[in-house]
Amino acid sequence: MSITSNLNTIKASLPEHVTLVAVSKTKPVLDLMQAYEAGQRIFGENKIQEMTDKWEEMPKDIQWHMIGHVQSNKVKFMAPFVSLIHGVDSLKLLQEINKQASKNNRIIDCLLQIHIAEEETKFGLDENELNELLSSSEFKEMKNIRILGLMGMATFTEDQNQIKKEFTHLKSIFNSLHQRKSALQCASTIDNFSTISMGMSGDYQLAIECGSTMVRIGSSIFGGR
Ligand SMILES: *Cc1c(COP(=O)(O)O)cnc(C)c1O
Repeated sequence: MSITSNLNTIKASLPEHVTLVAVSKTKPVLDLMQAYEAGQRIFGENKIQEMTDKWEEMPKDIQWHMIGHVQSNKVKFMAPFVSLIHGVDSLKLLQEINKQASKNNRIIDCLLQIHIAEEETKFGLDENELNELLSSSEFKEMKNIRILGLMGMATFTEDQNQIKKEFTHLKSIFNSLHQRKSALQCASTIDNFSTISMGMSGDYQLAIECGSTMVRIGSSIFGGR
C-alpha cells in the first residue's frame, strides 16, 4: 500500500470533527511530501531537531505538531513555528513556552498531557498536578500560551477494556475541566478548550468512540519504523 492510499483510507474513516495528525517521525522528507501532495497539512514529530530540519525544508503551509516529551532548554528552537505542543506536563515547561512565544511575538497553542496509562514510564500530569498548575498564579498571568485541551497515551496492551477505561478517564477529566473552564483561565484565556488528543494507529477507532477529537497516526500511514 502507498502512503497516499493509506492516508486516503484513514481520512475516509474519520468523522468530520476528528483532526488527523500524520506522525512522520523518523521518516524522510520524500515520504512526508507524498502525504503533503495528497492534501495532508498537519504533521507530528517527537524530536525538536528533526521537526526543525523538516520545517526548513518543506512548504510553509504545514502545521507542525510536537507530540513528544519536550525539554525546556529546546523550546526556543521550535518557538518561531510550532503550531501545537501536545506534551506539556509541567508549569516550568509552560513558563518556558510562554517566554519563548513572547520573544517571537506569538501565542503558542498547547495541550496538557495527562497520565492515563498504567506504565510508570509514560509522561503526564495526574489530576492533582493538573489542578495545581491551572490554579497557580503563574499560570493565570501567562499571556503567550493558549490551552486548547488535553492529550493522553493509553497503556501499550492488547487489552481493549483497559485501553477503553484509560481513554474514558481522559474524556471525563476533559469534561469536568470544560465545565469549570471560566474559573481556570490564564491571561490568554482557555476559550478554545475543545481538543482531546488521543488515539494512535492501533487504537484510534476506540479513542474516537471514547471522545477523541484529534488522532496521531504514524505507522498506518507511513509504514513501520
Ligand atoms: C509515535 C507516536 C504516535 C504514532 O504512533 P503509531 O503507532 O505509529 O501510529 C502517536 N503519538 C505519540 C506521542 C507518538 O510518539
